[in-house]
Amino acid sequence: MDSLHIFRVNQVKGIYAEIHEGDPLSFYVPSDSKAGEAHLVRLNHNIDSGGVEFNGECDCPDFSCRCLPNFNKTKAVSLSTHKDHRTRCKHIRRALREFNRLMVLGVSRDRVRRNVKQREAAK
Ligand SMILES: [Zn+2]
Repeated sequence: MDSLHIFRVNQVKGIYAEIHEGDPLSFYVPSDSKAGEAHLVRLNHNIDSGGVEFNGECDCPDFSCRCLPNFNKTKAVSLSTHKDHRTRCKHIRRALREFNRLMVLGVSRDRVRRNVKQREAAK
């Protein structure tokens, strides 16, 4: 838990996490139980045994007590939210939601820019 970080995320607008120090694979996610505090999530940690899927890592107690032991049993990502099966805590799921949002917006902007350039080149 990073208590020094001042969390600025606006959940009203549907933004659930904030990129940590410019690393687009690391996010601060607000704690539900401790106002103003945030958990650090690193999406590219804990790769599965096949090397094709990432689970992510969080510094919250749920991740270290339940999710990581579940992941280490099978070395596979579980999408279950049941405590006996889940390998991702709610903070990792929120960070993934924010990562997806940023990716879609980024790809959309790139596509718009490319379309504009192609139209201009065709003139
Ligand atoms: Zn967590």
